[in-house]
Amino acid sequence: MSIYSNTEKTLDTAEKLNETLNSFLSIEREQALKRASELDASSEDAPLKGFAIAVKDNICTRGMPTTCGSRILGNYHPQYDATAVKKLYEAGAVVVGKANMDEFAMGSSNENSAFGGARNPWDTTRVPGGSSGGSAVAVASGVVRASLGSETGGSVRQPASFCGIFGLKPTYGRISRFGLVAFASSLDQIGIFGQSAKDIAGVLGIVAGRDANDATTADVPVPNYLEALDKDIKGRKIGVPRALFGEGIDDEVRHAVENSIDNYRKLGAEIVDVELPHAKYGIAVYYILATAEASSNLARFDGVRYGFRAEGAHSLREMYNKTREEGFGAEVKRRIMLGTYVLSSGYYDAYYAKAQKVRTLLKQDYQKAFAGCDAILTPTSPTVAFKFGEKSDDPLAMYLSDIYTVSANLTSIPGINIPCGLSSENLPIGMQLVGNNWSEEVLLNLAYRYENEYPLAAKPAIFG
Ligand code: GLN
Repeated sequence: MSIYSNTEKTLDTAEKLNETLNSFLSIEREQALKRASELDASSEDAPLKGFAIAVKDNICTRGMPTTCGSRILGNYHPQYDATAVKKLYEAGAVVVGKANMDEFAMGSSNENSAFGGARNPWDTTRVPGGSSGGSAVAVASGVVRASLGSETGGSVRQPASFCGIFGLKPTYGRISRFGLVAFASSLDQIGIFGQSAKDIAGVLGIVAGRDANDATTADVPVPNYLEALDKDIKGRKIGVPRALFGEGIDDEVRHAVENSIDNYRKLGAEIVDVELPHAKYGIAVYYILATAEASSNLARFDGVRYGFRAEGAHSLREMYNKTREEGFGAEVKRRIMLGTYVLSSGYYDAYYAKAQKVRTLLKQDYQKAFAGCDAILTPTSPTVAFKFGEKSDDPLAMYLSDIYTVSANLTSIPGINIPCGLSSENLPIGMQLVGNNWSEEVLLNLAYRYENEYPLAAKPAIFG
């Protein structure tokens, strides 16, 4: 089949499913088909030739909107492609649309999108997770095999877990963030969703690497992630921090994850105990540092340089105020206020400086743990996908969804969600593996071996 007709089929499915799932904020039929014809006409081979991909709407795409799920960027069309997108194009991929997300990537349910949340294809009364919910749904509902998301505190791994797919947050500095709209720059990374760990390996090999446009990318060689996938995992050491399996975690989640530990043992891995004594402070540290950085990063949205500008202001100051008041949603405002508070004089040492110190302690915990193991296994999220509205009035309950994921962002290490079971209500459960910096190869190998032996026993309800 030609790339053109394949792309057309993908676009048709995307449009049809979007009526129910709302996973795309824009579906780019014209551009995608144009690109597909060009690829059909070219005799050049490319690693991802004709591969359809969805891109989270906070990653810049030339000629397509990039709204960040926010009213304030509702009409924003960037002038350039993010480096990750540019590399995907060079490898022959076709971007079919921009995926729904919590506004400015702040949230764990997609309910903070200014354009309505995406729905979970396993049960459309439930959230897909967030903030990269749309990217997760596009993959879980079978529209695309892979998509780009972003991670600041778990926004790829947690929705991957809720949607029963694979989701990788790479090492800080692995993938260029040039063209990723900043939320909290010491934490942000572009991440990848895949129906299989293999899809992620294929995409990661293309988008990873040093980029002159992003000084935080590292000059670390990019391995061939596909080659390592199928290696025997006999003798690999997987650490289990038992203390993190305590209260607050659903029984079904605990049970499925315990079962996966046994499965890894059967696959030849050695299970060892590890301790992460400071992990319990992860949420507190994250919500201080992430909001502090967000309050600074989001100062640029003032009605002058980008997107939306409020009408009817009589002075510059009033224009700034009205634009930000009308343009930002409630959660974004909450974060800007919290962040401004923790950075203000008198509170800086008590909150921001202290959080940075605890971040260092957390880093040391992981370095110690990795001296004795190759990867650390926990649940990805303490619960399965929750219902719309269940936590939206309680920000703290929502923040606790990130309890297992934020530590990897705070310590720069890579992490992956691996679907590992189904609840009694037929909702996916995910486990997380995190590894030392630059160990994506090991994580993808462990994930791929697991998925081949223990695939999920069902598909999302949307498939009928
Ligand atoms: N749920 C977390 C938050 O709301 C993580 C977001 C993210 O990773 N972008 O901040």
